[in-house]
Amino acid sequence: MTDQNLMEKIVSLAKRRGFVFPGSEIYGGLAGTFDYGPMGVVLKENIERLWLQMFRDDRDDMYGVDAAILMNPKMWESSGHIAGFSDPLVECEKCKKRFRADHLDDTKSCPECGGKLGEERQFNMMFKTHAGAMEDDSAAVYLRPETAGGIFANYKNVIDSIHPKLPFGIAQIGKAFRNEIAPRDFIFRLRELSQMEVEYFVHPREWEQAFKEWQEMMHLFAIAIGLPSDSIHELEIADTDRAHYSKRTIDFEFDYPFGRKELWGLAYRTDFDLSAHQKGSNTSLEYLDEETKEKFIPHVIEPSLGVDRTVLAILASAYREDELGGEGRTYLALAPKIAPVKAMVSPLLKNKPELVAKAREVRAELKKVHPAIAWDDNGNIGKRYRRQDEIGTPFCITIDFYTLGDPTTSSGQGTLKDTVTLRHRDTGEQERLTVAEAAARIRAAIE
Ligand code: ATP
Repeated sequence: MTDQNLMEKIVSLAKRRGFVFPGSEIYGGLAGTFDYGPMGVVLKENIERLWLQMFRDDRDDMYGVDAAILMNPKMWESSGHIAGFSDPLVECEKCKKRFRADHLDDTKSCPECGGKLGEERQFNMMFKTHAGAMEDDSAAVYLRPETAGGIFANYKNVIDSIHPKLPFGIAQIGKAFRNEIAPRDFIFRLRELSQMEVEYFVHPREWEQAFKEWQEMMHLFAIAIGLPSDSIHELEIADTDRAHYSKRTIDFEFDYPFGRKELWGLAYRTDFDLSAHQKGSNTSLEYLDEETKEKFIPHVIEPSLGVDRTVLAILASAYREDELGGEGRTYLALAPKIAPVKAMVSPLLKNKPELVAKAREVRAELKKVHPAIAWDDNGNIGKRYRRQDEIGTPFCITIDFYTLGDPTTSSGQGTLKDTVTLRHRDTGEQERLTVAEAAARIRAAIE
């Protein structure tokens, strides 16, 4: 399978099975936007929930906020985004297509039509709109280009309301908007994206230790969501390539089918943001250490994780094709913890009320372990298994006549009454288990 081919298959499966749809598809789409469908939304929520657990809730030094997307434009003036959040743009003089100059090998001729490319210029990526009825520049506001802004703006509110001791951090998940010159590669480069960000505030002399801790945490998170360790690579960003606010940045790159590209970023933002906002807002953002009486502006470590790039990395690393029972099949080897459906229960035949009733009973029992236990009685059992394989459901449980205790179907070990078949997604192997044993299997897999 070529890498191009693999991407096409992932995009096709994502649509076919309700993970990701092109945005506004019935109107021909809108570049750089995608919508999450019934399976995708749960996969995304499972990733976000796990992130909240690991980056916020399991720690005593982390707090949450959910800030507005629209902010006072002075915010982006102080942060340097109005002046500097831009990418180098070149336009073809012949076909008028626009490209990011730093993504081209040859910045003289158009990669599409071979025409002459014009002069490079800086293109600001923030989406601009107007708040209220006035449409002049006095009413201009921006859609936030990173969720970090809402965290910095609330740093003082968090200190004044809950009085955390340094070091502490604020975590937030939310939408960010970037008017990317060339959105591409499915959900990799979007104009509307979701980010999971932490701003961790430390005493300046402690930044290196905190940087190391969050670096480690990002690797642990990669493992928790099932990304193979050998597909993640750290890239130390050179001084000349770092964002305007950063003194050290490590990109966590992933081997996507279209190449090794940035999945997440970890940056040491120094006191750049708080100092800039202190100056811009004329509000003291100093921290007072009650014990030493030292007053200073904390420095910041920022682990920033794009949700959509994470979803794509998961889909790409989980996609599998194999032969099972002499037939080709496709499945997603998702970690059970993040799989949208944990198990599917089905009656062998849907026109046998006694099988259906028993299967409903088993499903109700398994739902006590986890609510994401699906029901499927459509088509033959083989088809049902294939559908669940493509969704990445780790287990399928079938209720048959043995379960009902049919005396003609007892095995050498005695009656199989109240036992079910549990099929494993990755191997297709089946086991005969009691309902309690099946429940224990599911519980063990997702814990
Ligand atoms: P790139 O160099 O690929 O444009 P970046 O360095 O500008 O990315 P950051 O500003 O560090 O990205 O943003 C933090 C995280 O947000 C990224 O690591 C990525 O996961 C995600 N992200 C950034 N831009 C996009 C985008 N256009 N589409 C989807 N996710 C994005």
